[in-house]
Amino acid sequence: MSTAILVEGLVKSYNRVPVLRGVSFSVRPGEVYGLLGPNGAGKTTTLKSLVGLVRPDDGRIELCGYNVATHRLQALSCTGYVPELTVGFDYLSVREFLEFVSSLRGLRWAEIEDYVERLVNLFELERYMDEFMGKLSRGTVQKALVISALMSRPKVLVMDEPTSGMDPESQRVFREEVSRLAREGAAVVLSSHLLYNVERLCTRVGILHKGVIITEGSIDEIRRKAATGENSTLED
Ligand code: ATP
Repeated sequence: MSTAILVEGLVKSYNRVPVLRGVSFSVRPGEVYGLLGPNGAGKTTTLKSLVGLVRPDDGRIELCGYNVATHRLQALSCTGYVPELTVGFDYLSVREFLEFVSSLRGLRWAEIEDYVERLVNLFELERYMDEFMGKLSRGTVQKALVISALMSRPKVLVMDEPTSGMDPESQRVFREEVSRLAREGAAVVLSSHLLYNVERLCTRVGILHKGVIITEGSIDEIRRKAATGENSTLED
């Protein structure tokens, strides 16, 4: 499959206010695509549309070759998702949360236990395993969410501000594990405000501005374009 994430002409309005005005991009297996842009540009709306949490007014989304509008289950079962803000799960411990997600995904705990344990150690989450999710700091919750998305080794990984509140060492672990998954053939799309992470992780980025991707390329290409004024909206 040459394209694992395909987004074509995504359009969405909230209360008749246009938020996405024809967003298009694609991500191949092995690529890590960074969706960047100012607050309110439409990053979260785009990523939620990918995983079926927002219904676009128009456009087409395919994950792993499945159209999300018509083959939602197949599309979502090959996809891991890290939301921007957690909802619910406050009264599950981290351990219960991970086991719950694994059962939702139809994973056998015995088969993934070693991998999960490795991630828990790398993210230094051991001492929080029996704490309620609702009692944890933002960064610690993010680590649990990232592990829950990585543990099925998805073919497609969609992440909205995944490293918010994470300490620098955990961000390094995050970059390493996401890169590893991409090397194994996953297609990854993530939004982030942390240019530092994006520079080190993303093979390609797209700049979303007022609901449209105004430029795409490697970080170096985007910087060159901005420096030569090829895309003046980048400076807004
Ligand atoms: P941020 O970086 O601040 O998270 P973003 O690029 O992710 O921004 P979105 O969260 O997609 O942007 O929001 C785009 C616009 O849509 C914003 O103006 C936001 O207020 C608006 N919006 C988002 N969700 C809703 C909603 N459910 N109802 C109405 N307006 C919404």
